[in-house]
Amino acid sequence: MTGIEVPSAVIEVARSARSVAVLTGAGVSAESGVPTFRDAQTGLWSNFDPADLASPEGWARDSDLVWGWYQWRAQLVRRSEPNAGHLALTEWQQRVHLDIATQNVDDLHERAGSTVIAHVHGSLFDPRCSECGLHSQPEPDPFDERSDRVPPPSCPDCGGEMRPGAVWFGEPLPETEWTAAVEAVESADLVLVVGTSGVVFPFAGLPAMARSTGATVVEINPVETEISDMADFRWRTTAATGLPALVDSLR
Ligand code: NAD
Ligand code: ZN
Repeated sequence: MTGIEVPSAVIEVARSARSVAVLTGAGVSAESGVPTFRDAQTGLWSNFDPADLASPEGWARDSDLVWGWYQWRAQLVRRSEPNAGHLALTEWQQRVHLDIATQNVDDLHERAGSTVIAHVHGSLFDPRCSECGLHSQPEPDPFDERSDRVPPPSCPDCGGEMRPGAVWFGEPLPETEWTAAVEAVESADLVLVVGTSGVVFPFAGLPAMARSTGATVVEINPVETEISDMADFRWRTTAATGLPALVDSLR
């Protein structure tokens, strides 16, 4: 028992769901210590706007700066652990058909033991060559807290610049990942949206798609978001509090 009261309507839909889709955003990793985009960036990066860094224009302007930022984020994730929210989803996934589609570029769902069907915005740990497209994971650079610029490594094949494996603003989503996310939503009777502000499209359009295919949509987020209106139930709690309480209540 976690002592948290789970809204009875949420327990009811979760109990009767045969197929669940969980859509996650940066908020699911916040309690692991991984900052969300809308949180103020800290330290070295407090003067930079993520929208400027996570973009093809940012890369063209200053690839050392962008590579350094991704190195810093990857390092932060390596030092973080999955939280009770990630772990609860793993437990739930062992009991029902549950597809996780995430916007997160971290690997905390996987490290918690979950299977993720779609990383729609790519991964911090899957860089590829900006010239020939080869995926190759270079040794992580020894991390220097004082430097924000790190020159990107060269492609082992063609010598081109390696680029981060994340999808940038203005870039299309990887097609197979996006299709998998859409299929998960279309086949779900419960769609749980956790820790996303719902401002980055097309991911932010998935709750509306869920409504149109007849699924019940539940939002877990401590605050109102752009997609709250799409939810049948809005549960104002955090991922690491709400998810374990919900999964416990289904035993
Ligand atoms: P976002 O930063 O826009 O929004 C985060 C949301 O999480 C907010 O609505 C906030 O209220 C909510 N939140 C904060 N703490 C929470 C908690 N403890 N439990 C539940 N919810 C909580 O993030 P987004 O919607 O995922 O979208 C923006 C983009 O940011 C995505 O493209 C994503 O790739 C990228 N991003 C990823 C990571 C990561 O991989 N961990 C981190 C930062 C940004
Ligand atoms: Zn190459």
